[in-house]
Amino acid sequence: MAGCGCKNKNNIKEIMKRCPLCHDKAHSISYPAVKMVVKEELKELVVAGVYYACDCKDCEVVFFDEDGEQIFLVIDVDFGADFKEVTKEGIKSCGGTCSPVCGG
Ligand SMILES: [Zn+2]
Repeated sequence: MAGCGCKNKNNIKEIMKRCPLCHDKAHSISYPAVKMVVKEELKELVVAGVYYACDCKDCEVVFFDEDGEQIFLVIDVDFGADFKEVTKEGIKSCGGTCSPVCGG
């Protein structure tokens, strides 16, 4: 039986990390998305690489980098930006990469 392959692709792409503050799970997010929502003066700190977004709504951490050295808190993020598109609830399980027939 031939599936759409969505799940397999997703497993390779998706790397789970733990938030350095609340230790809840966080999902990977591309740096342009981070750059898009952090405050103006922090944009230059965002470097090309993988960032993670904390899934916990009560946590002050929004994004952190691979090593957990760079952490963006709620106060570092401009909530006027298109925030919901990039974090917390806006991520589709398939990452939007699979075909419509897959159903996510
Ligand atoms: Zn957290």
